[in-house]
Amino acid sequence: MTGTTPPRAHATDAIPAADTPRLAVRGGGRFPVRRIYCVGRNFADHAREMGATAPASKAERGTPVFFMKPADAVFTGEVVPYPPATSDLHHEVELVVALGHDAPAGELPLARAPALVFGYTVGLDLTRRDLQAAAKAKGLPWDTAKGFDHSAPAGELVPAAEVDGLDSRMLELRVNGQVRQRASLSELVWNVPEILHELSKLYALRAGDLVFMGTPAGVAALQPGDRFEASLEGVATLHGRIGG
Ligand code: MN
Repeated sequence: MTGTTPPRAHATDAIPAADTPRLAVRGGGRFPVRRIYCVGRNFADHAREMGATAPASKAERGTPVFFMKPADAVFTGEVVPYPPATSDLHHEVELVVALGHDAPAGELPLARAPALVFGYTVGLDLTRRDLQAAAKAKGLPWDTAKGFDHSAPAGELVPAAEVDGLDSRMLELRVNGQVRQRASLSELVWNVPEILHELSKLYALRAGDLVFMGTPAGVAALQPGDRFEASLEGVATLHGRIGG
């Protein structure tokens, strides 16, 4: 062999390792993303608009609906590429929770859950609604409807210590200046500590994990050229445009 080979982080890697996706942190630094967990049907009005039954009380909640997106679905650019294989790209505005500490599977008591949180932001759980409807009709998984490239635009993370009164803050999404989704986080079926407690029954949680907490009613289609502005009242904003 002649010439020089660029040094690799791991000399035995057969190919260059992919970059770790990262979110900016308010006040400086970046947050490397490990996994993206998502919660489905976590606002009763959205569950109903999707044709699902909404629980009438906490006692009737059952277990949360979880799914995942790949870490590199996180998107922090201004123009979100319109994805292939859909003609019904939907917005779902969501609270995003970032974890700063680990918890072994099955060992996270509810009371300890808040201490895991690094910070919060607002994000979009972009969804190929046509593929999701087809999957639901056949009893198939949602992966192609949910876990595609650029499907998790997210804003700057705000450290938890700078956020108070989270449970009563408003989540809002405007598209081309018009309000499409607006709800108080007090309407969440499962709140943040409850979701982390439930997730920990299924997975070892790690620093670097994100949780998209579910969307309120008002989900609808985004068209190429649409401008969006999402906000978590008084905490974080996210704006951009849908590309062609
Ligand atoms: Mn969602």
